[in-house]
Amino acid sequence: AGDSKDYDREVKSVCPYCGVGCQISFKVKDDKIKYVEGIDGPANENRLCVKGRFGFDYIHHPHRLTKPLIRRADAPPKGLNVDPANWQTHFREATWEEALDFAAGGMARLRDQKPTYIAGFGSAKCSNEEAYLFQKLIRQGFGHNNVDHCTRLCHASSVAALLENVGSGAVSATFNEIENADVAIAIGCNPLENHPVAATYFKQFTKRGGKLIVMDPRGHGLKRFASHMLQFKPGADVSMLNAIMHVIVEEELYDRQYIQAMTENWEAMKEHLKGFSPEKMAPICGIEADVLRDVARTFAGAKAAMIFWGMGVSQHVHGTDNSRCLISLALMTGQVGRPGAGLHPLRGQNNVQGASDAGLIPMFLPDYQTVEDDGVRSAFTTVWQSDDFSGQEGLTVVEIMDAIHAGDIRSMYILGENPAMSDPDADHARDALARLEHLVVQDIFLTETANYADVILPSSAWYEKTGTVTNTNRQVQMGRPVTPPPGDAKEDWWIEVELARRLGLDWTYTHPSDVFAEMKLNMQSLDNITWERLERTAVTYPSLSLDDPGQPIVFVDGFPRANGRAKFTPANVIPPDEVPDTEYPFVLITGRQLEHWHTGSMTRRSKVLDAVEPEANCSLHPRTLRELGVAPGDYIRLTTRRGSVTVLARSDRAVSEGNVFLPFAYVEAAANILTNPALDPVGKIPEFKFSAVRVEKAQSA
Ligand code: SF4
Repeated sequence: AGDSKDYDREVKSVCPYCGVGCQISFKVKDDKIKYVEGIDGPANENRLCVKGRFGFDYIHHPHRLTKPLIRRADAPPKGLNVDPANWQTHFREATWEEALDFAAGGMARLRDQKPTYIAGFGSAKCSNEEAYLFQKLIRQGFGHNNVDHCTRLCHASSVAALLENVGSGAVSATFNEIENADVAIAIGCNPLENHPVAATYFKQFTKRGGKLIVMDPRGHGLKRFASHMLQFKPGADVSMLNAIMHVIVEEELYDRQYIQAMTENWEAMKEHLKGFSPEKMAPICGIEADVLRDVARTFAGAKAAMIFWGMGVSQHVHGTDNSRCLISLALMTGQVGRPGAGLHPLRGQNNVQGASDAGLIPMFLPDYQTVEDDGVRSAFTTVWQSDDFSGQEGLTVVEIMDAIHAGDIRSMYILGENPAMSDPDADHARDALARLEHLVVQDIFLTETANYADVILPSSAWYEKTGTVTNTNRQVQMGRPVTPPPGDAKEDWWIEVELARRLGLDWTYTHPSDVFAEMKLNMQSLDNITWERLERTAVTYPSLSLDDPGQPIVFVDGFPRANGRAKFTPANVIPPDEVPDTEYPFVLITGRQLEHWHTGSMTRRSKVLDAVEPEANCSLHPRTLRELGVAPGDYIRLTTRRGSVTVLARSDRAVSEGNVFLPFAYVEAAANILTNPALDPVGKIPEFKFSAVRVEKAQSA
């Protein structure tokens, strides 16, 4: 930090990275961010992590898109072959008028052939208003629900289980509530790297005596603070959690009164758990029966307990079942709806909660109102003053890629997503993108996905726009423009409106606040939350009055299900889709690193972050490396049934023997070339956390 002479203006906004939603004061000079400071937001109380503090300079990177681009008639065949510094062989600059006409014209042409030829991916990096407009454009403009975003790749299974069993997909308590807990479980999440400011609250909790039960196949940094560390076998979540619940039933440690008053299906759950004794499950999950018993007694004995989970839970073919188990564990011990108690799936992107709330998903309109309900659709088309649209659920992210290969989708509008890097079996996704007759990409950089575009619309980074954003805590906050977009780049909502008009829609919004006002008409979650309030302060939904800052804890008196009760849904053990064998003997686990964000398009263009982690790397246990004849710093080749990548090997005792951990931010060793596209049948989320892989020493990168 410097003194006031270092900058000529200060803007308060929100971090663009993770779902914690830290509030930041940006110090700006000559339209450049000089440095930042954490301020007293409800989720961060002045704290920031390395990404929030140093990861802002990507917006000034020379590779920013500043003009609309149209693919040249004589461009080489589509592929991952565009040099961002030398794009002129593939694209030519265009005016906004020409680019928008070209983008909308191509979509309209295919719509006239068959409306379902079009699909859209919106963005969890955009504002709530932009997410709302995106789903509206697909539904109103094309008449169907082929619209999705990266929630499908992160917490779709958690949301499915929460909606099924407690009637609401958001967290039941803010993460800050851990200060009122005496026990907490953190499973399949690595908050020290992925939600670092939330992790500071976890550490404080342990410092004052709270018991932190960490469950993860990787022994990551939170292990140092754990009262119990359960480094279980990948994919064995359901066996382990059912064994813990078995003990709670067997020893009658459950909350009889709570179960009777607030839940249903308890008898079936009890019966189901009989088959999961710790002794039987111990060899399956790799945790000793005594430890499972101790964890059960510790959790059930808590006065107030919370459960936090991340993508280690959700990204499996049994991701929904994993979440069902966590929900059941909280319900049987009555650990919901009280201070220090609750369920908290830690949301990844800064606005994945808000984008999902705004209806950027193929099954639901805003506020998780099903598209299958005629009355729900009618409520929206009345506000939109338009015809009815399909009551059939649309296709999800991975299904859309398959539909392109099948010839059923021929055009896509992709805003701020990077499926060429983020989809499982990335070569399959890249082939799909190359097959599209008309691909419109709206982004801030010429991303791997933009390589395949027919037209690229240069948009604004989070720091360059006005709009609201909703964090993992259900806190709605105002994002303010810190600097102007570079060159001719525009705010995303403006581009969406211009495209919609060219598709024949009568959209008259002149500011994001107009969109927010429309959202409120059919989104009960925004009751008592007004644009004016948000300009002054953050508000947590639900907010009960114009003076209520919002409810940090929900489900106090019941659940938003038809009978007001939460439900126990028993979960059976479903094995991972692909198990190791002699040809592919290791388990590949993919994930994130502290310094790099998702597909790397922002953080790898941020000087400090890229300097700390400049090269693709992969972590293995030192004994595994020795057995392979590999030294740390050597290159190794990872091969699955989908493809191969070569990457630098790191020695890391946190990774269990037999496992390999590979971050997915690096295009030169794209982890998703390797990953398995098998889907959870309910949440339709791919199994990023478990692929069978072969590891060999390589000569060079
Ligand atoms: Fe940004 Fe998340 Fe870090 Fe906060 S914890 S500064 S929201 S990346």
